Amino acid sequence: MCRALLLADFSGLDSIAGKIFSCWCRWEPTSQVCSECGYRWGKLNLSVRTIVCVNCGKEHDRDDNASVIIVETRF
Ligand SMILES: [Zn+2]
Repeated sequence: MCRALLLADFSGLDSIAGKIFSCWCRWEPTSQVCSECGYRWGKLNLSVRTIVCVNCGKEHDRDDNASVIIVETRF
């Protein structure tokens, strides 16, 4: 469990009732995994904004790929 979740104050949760609430650990490697096939290509330099997966050949925008992974694995 991430430290931020452990330290979070949930006392105001009733004011956001009915909305989707999820927590994502900032250390999850969302930019290191292909959102299409799940292949893990590893850590990328921050200057790399586009990547072509060596497994499935799909071209990804770094941020779009990370957002897809977060949405798909949200619980
Ligand atoms: Zn892939």
